[in-house]
Formats: sequence, C-alpha cells, structure tokens
Amino acid sequence: MASFLDNDIKALPGVGDHRRELLGRDLNIHTLRDLLYYFPFRYIDRSMIHRIGDIRDDSPAYIQLRARVTSKIVLGSGPKQRLAAEIADNTGTAELVWFRGIAWQEKNLEVDREYIVFGKPTLFNGQLSIVHPEMEPVARALQRPSAGSYQGVYYTSEKLAAARLDSKGIYNLICALWKMAAGAIVETLPPELIRSQNLMPLEEALRTIHFPKNDEELRRAQFRLKFEELLGIQLHILSQKHHRMTHNEGFVLGRVGEFFNDFYRNKLPFPLTEAQMRVVKEIRGDVVSGRQMNRLLQGDVGSGKTVVALMAMLMAADNGFQACMMAPTEILARQHYATLLKMLDGTGCRVEIITGSSKAKERRPVLEGLADGSVHILVGTHALIEDTVMFHNLGLVVIDEQHRFGVEQRSRLWTKGRKPPHILVMSATPIPRTLAMTLYGDLDVSVIDKLPPGRKPIKTVHLRDAQRLQLHGFMRKQIESGRQIYMVYPLITESEKMDYKDLSDGFESITQVFPEPDFHSVVVHGKLKAVVKQENMDFFKSGAAHIMVATQVIEVGVDVPNATVMVIESAERFGLSQLHQLRGRVGRGGEQSYCVLMSGDKLSREAQMRLDAMVRTNDGFELSELDLKLRGSGDLAGTMQSGIAFDLKIADLGRDVQIIELARRVGEEILARDPELAQSPLLKELRRRYATATQRDYSMIS
Ligand code: ADP
Ligand code: MG
Repeated sequence: MASFLDNDIKALPGVGDHRRELLGRDLNIHTLRDLLYYFPFRYIDRSMIHRIGDIRDDSPAYIQLRARVTSKIVLGSGPKQRLAAEIADNTGTAELVWFRGIAWQEKNLEVDREYIVFGKPTLFNGQLSIVHPEMEPVARALQRPSAGSYQGVYYTSEKLAAARLDSKGIYNLICALWKMAAGAIVETLPPELIRSQNLMPLEEALRTIHFPKNDEELRRAQFRLKFEELLGIQLHILSQKHHRMTHNEGFVLGRVGEFFNDFYRNKLPFPLTEAQMRVVKEIRGDVVSGRQMNRLLQGDVGSGKTVVALMAMLMAADNGFQACMMAPTEILARQHYATLLKMLDGTGCRVEIITGSSKAKERRPVLEGLADGSVHILVGTHALIEDTVMFHNLGLVVIDEQHRFGVEQRSRLWTKGRKPPHILVMSATPIPRTLAMTLYGDLDVSVIDKLPPGRKPIKTVHLRDAQRLQLHGFMRKQIESGRQIYMVYPLITESEKMDYKDLSDGFESITQVFPEPDFHSVVVHGKLKAVVKQENMDFFKSGAAHIMVATQVIEVGVDVPNATVMVIESAERFGLSQLHQLRGRVGRGGEQSYCVLMSGDKLSREAQMRLDAMVRTNDGFELSELDLKLRGSGDLAGTMQSGIAFDLKIADLGRDVQIIELARRVGEEILARDPELAQSPLLKELRRRYATATQRDYSMIS
C-alpha cells in the first residue's frame, strides 16, 4: 500500500534538485521514509552550557558555549583563506575558524550577537579554539522543537555539509518532515508482540529516536527499533532453515565400518582432544539423521580440524560414498593430501588429488577412479569444480577456510551428486556465536575450543618505540640461542610508497644493529621479483638467515618451527584478527615463543585496548568478540568478504548480543506456532523486508 512516506524526498520544503541528488548519492536517502529512518549515530546533551574559562584538556569531545561574537575577519587568500571570529563570555575568550563556506558564514555571523556555539574544542597554549562550530542565535535556540535536552548527531558528507546539510541541517530537515509525517506512520508489529515484549509503539519510537526527552525513553526507542530489525532477520533465517530441514533429504551414513574403526584403533597418531571428540559426535549425529548436514567447524589455527574432517570422510567411505576436501590454495591442498596419505597408509582407503596444475596424464586415472567409485577421498583446489570431475556418488564435501570461496563456486559442487551431499565447512577465523548465527544463516556451528596438549602459550609483550634497545637485546639473546625472528611492517595498501619506506628503513637499521657477517637478515615483500622473494624465503627457512623483515604477506604460507619471535612494528595499525593471525606464525615448535608489539607513544583508546587484549590472551575467540565490539559488525563483515547485505539501520551484530538472542527466541516461538506466518501479515511483511539480504547459503543446489 502506497503511503505518504513513499514520496520522493523532494516533497520536503528545502530539498531541491541539488540536495536531492546529494542525499541520494551520499546517504542513500531517496524517499521521505528513508529520511525518517536515517537515525542519529550519537546524541549530545544540549542542556549543558560550558563556560569558556572552565574548558580543560579532559573536557568532553563536544562542548556547547553561550557567547557573544566580538569580532570577525577573513584572513589569507586562495585555498588558505579562512574566516576567524572571536567570541567571549564572562569567563574568557575563544577563537572560531572556518575553512569552508566562508562567504555564507561571514554574511550570517553578526558581531555583538549572542550565540549558542557547538563544536569540538582544541586547546593550544591555553587558547581555546573551535573549527567549524555550529552556530545558532540564542533567541532561536530557545524555541527549538526538541522538547528534551538531547540532540541527535547525524552522519553527513563533505558535499552535503557544503550544501548546508551538516548534522544540524539534517536535523532541521527531519524536524520539518516530522510535522508532516507523524500521522502517516503505521505500526509494523502485531499488537500481541508489542504487548508481550513491552515494546514502544513505532510512532513514539521514531519520534524518540530523533527527539529524545531522556535517557530511559531513548533506550526504549532504540530497543524497539533494534528488536524489529533483528527479528526480521531471524524470521528470514529460521524460515530458510526450516525449508532445508523439510526439503533437503540427506544420505544416511549409518554404518561405522572398517575404514573408520581401523583408523581409529590403529592409525590415529594421538588421542583426540575432548573438543575433537565432541565435534566428531556432532557430525555423526548429523549424518545419521536423514537430513543434509550443513555444519560450520570453527577452530583456531592448529586446533586439529584436519583429523576431524578425515574421520567424517571415513564415515562416508564406510557407507559406500565418496568424499572430497577443497582447499583454497594449491599449497594447502598438497599439504592436506600428504597428511591424509600418511594417516591412511595401509588402510586401503584410496586418496587422490586434483589441482589446477595436475597434468592431463595424471588426471586420467584419478577421473576414472572417481567415476567407478574406487577413489574414496579426493583432495583439491577449486579445480574440483570443473565439469570434467565426475563422482560416482559424492556423499560429503569438506571445505577448508571457507571464506575464500564464493557462494557460486560452492554451489557448483552440489550439482555433482543426485542429492546434495553433506557439507562441512572449516574455518580458522573465529567468529563470535551471535555473528555466526546471523552471518552464516542456518548453519549449525561446532567449535574446537582447546588446542591439543603440550603447546606452550606464546608470550606477548607491548613495547614503545623508546624501548627499542630492550627489544634489540632480547633479539640478540634469542639469536644466540639458535632461534629465528620475524619482523613485520604494516602495509596498508600495496601502492603506498610510505609503507615501503618504513619497511626498507627498518631493514636498513636492523642490518646496522645486527651486521654481517655475524648476522644475516633477509627482506620479503610483494614488490620483490618472485625469484628473489623465493630465494630470501628459502634462505630463512633453511635456518641460514636470523631475521626476516617482511610485510604481512607472511601471514600466509610460511612455516618455520624454529622461528620463535614475532616482532610487529606499528602494531597499532593492525586489526586484532590480523595481529592474532601474525602471532600464529610462531609457537609451532617445542621452544617458548614470543610476540613483541611495537608501537608509538600516543595511542588511541581503541588501539590501546587492542594491544592490551593481545598481551592478555591467546584465545582467538575472545579476541574476535572484542574485535567485533570495537569495530562494529559492518566493518568486520566487510573484512571477511561475507557478502552480508542486511540493511541494518540501528542494530549492531557485535554490540546487541542480548537483543539478537531474544529475537532468535521470539522468532523460533512464532514460527513453531505458524511456520508460514499465515496468520500474521505484518510479520510476513517484516520477513520479506529482510529476505532480499544475500547471505551465505551452503545448502541450496543452484
Ligand atoms: P588446523 O585446525 O589448523 O587445521 P591441524 O589439523 O593442521 O590444525 O592440526 C595441527 C597440528 O596438531 C597437526 O600437526 C596435528 O597432527 C596436530 N594434532 C591434531 N590433533 C591433535 C591431538 N589431539 N593431539 C596432538 N596433536 C594433534
Ligand atoms: Mg587446517
């Protein structure tokens, strides 16, 4: 049903073609409804007026002054031009500066008039100044529509700000919209739900989110709007899961036979950890259930996922089915192949490999064996997806490091069997449970949460640049006792010259501190010729080089158990998960390993928290939970190339854990009563709003 709110944003007084275009392009605001649902990202307490003389370094990030303009002057010319004004209250004076919109500001700023001045203060030699403050004549501020003391702060763009749609400008638009729109807002949740969850009605919630009167009301409004979003997502995901459970039959792998038993009794090189045993049981539960398994196995690097996957593949083999294991790179595929060959030696289970570089001559017998069923397990890269690879009866697919495969690539594997095979996806990027619940849709999640016994936890310390001598002393001791060292420099973009400069300066100074011929250092980064890079890597791997100076490219592919020290330069510039992955490069041998985080003296609060967390724990899950909290879900999802496209306007997958869990529970209850949502057009519509979200789906046949 068309509503007043579906009107183009141009219907609003004050929005002409220019602003309309900018709002659409920069903020994705096209209709009146889009603007109504454009929420503040923060609120400021506008009841608080500061006195100029009271402002200190530790004053709030934003302040509000009530002061008279005593002078104004345009200084400089060309791009250096700026407008400077002086203001005073009866405790002191401050300077205001504008670099943009000078002509307009100049015209509107009246000397001797009293303003409410709002902005970010900076203090230099006791002189207070504010760049690009918001100005409002006191007389006008007194009749502002906001009934309360909070005012929303809205994200905006440079271009919009130049069109006088800064945060305040957007706020004014929303004020204008509110006068016209209030009556047109129609409740989107059923009355029973509003009652049972004690939710604020929609109209009140929207008013409060823009014009809150107090903290408590604001929290209730946020809760209502977040809950609605998260419920929409959960209804969508749970419906998909229900569909899979009722439509996708799975092969029943009921027999525990010779392959599995022989391996378990005679070949298993170590006792399984409790966590591994639990996951094997979970997998077994799935494959005997008659439904298709769709399981995500998470476990930190080195937690022992491979042997679990192997045991799952043996369950398939014992029941006359084939299994395949797909790895993202040739190196990883070859590693898996070698591991499986060794572990299955003498069991009669036939393992083969196909990668992009397999020659036709090598492929032929493998393809024949796949077609006639004599190959039990096939390992490979995405080459497995090629049309020439035909299975006799594929029963299980294991995908290692899933996030590097596209959805489309995966689904092509499914078409290789009559029924969809069981799916086990393995990931070493720990993902907090709540995020997995949303991001991975309807996957069941298993976790290996303990490393095999005997590993010495890596010791991590954080040093400031001023403590470099201490670092060098420590490195010298490690080298003297025969160990090797990585030094990693951040490389944010491959093209940035600055980064390479840091790296080459770092390399130069390290060769001065640790000079030839007693010490050997190599450098490895993406700009080197492939042969040189390989030579340097080999030199380090062989043990001949003591120090490898590198970019974070060593995140992948280097495995030197004798390297026991990871020095991370400018550690404040790395994200938490990157730091954790880098640290995982050491601690692979029997020796005590160390991670040294080097940083500058001045750290942002978040950077400090990241480094503190690294020092405090080796637990990848704990770190990823924190990462999610610090960065918010949008960012994390982006990094993981998740393809998540939920249009979350207010909820945050990292911060709103409790609401996610509540929405999950409520969604389950609703669908248990009414799986098709036939009795609730409102909830059906809510689910539809989130059904367009593209998300990972491992279960569908394309
Ligand atoms: P990942 O989870 O990173 O794939 P792997 O499966 O490669 O880890 O296992 C890492 C190492 O730990 C391997 O050398 C493996 O043989 C060993 N390992 C796995 N499980 C155990 C265990 N239960 N006890 C001792 N060592 C184990
Ligand atoms: Mg692995």
